[in-house]
Amino acid sequence: RFIAFEGGEGAGKSTQSRLLAAELQRRGLEVVITREPGGTEGAEAIRALVLDPNGPGWGSEAEALLFAAARADHVARLIRPALERGAWVVCDRYLDSSRAYQGGGGGVDDADLLALHRFGSGGLLPDLTLLMEVPDAELATRLARRDGGESDRIGGREEAFHRRVREAFRHIADAEPSRFARIDGSGTAQETHGAILAALASLLGD
Ligand code: C5P
Repeated sequence: RFIAFEGGEGAGKSTQSRLLAAELQRRGLEVVITREPGGTEGAEAIRALVLDPNGPGWGSEAEALLFAAARADHVARLIRPALERGAWVVCDRYLDSSRAYQGGGGGVDDADLLALHRFGSGGLLPDLTLLMEVPDAELATRLARRDGGESDRIGGREEAFHRRVREAFRHIADAEPSRFARIDGSGTAQETHGAILAALASLLGD
């Protein structure tokens, strides 16, 4: 089974992917926990290139190609082999981050992003995508508490960009309700974890 976490910065994706992976392991399942951009040596090299604060910066189209290339390597070398041997894959960000950031935020056409995904990764989609949502006011408090107050690892993107990203995530999720669960991430980590297990109940056979 393939589970992806999506959402903006500070929504709790990394914490929740770790809690979910630990719970699946506790149930005796093989779990591969991974992230995007990254997850394999090649994809981590692309991550370093794209997120380098001293790097040249990229246009949205170049960024879309780089993220799609990272994903192609990640799917071919880690995700697909893990799924084929029956492991659960828990991934912090996946295709829908490209659709929200380079698409909704950066203006790249959604159909082009899906075409890149078909070419690069055979169109592989998660069984379930958990969209983590936190109200704007709570998000602002959390991001201010982060190291150095950093809210975005890619520089130069303003609040309006991030608002478009959040809107795009909502729009994408509402268009594909069977692949998505929208999760309220405003409570404690344990409360949110409970909501995630409830959303996964049928996949887990609970
Ligand atoms: O928070 P995380 O470690 O996933 O950070 C990755 C960075 O890359 C974030 O700043 C996120 O906004 C950005 N990103 C992006 N487009 C993607 C995936 C990630 O701009 N498709």
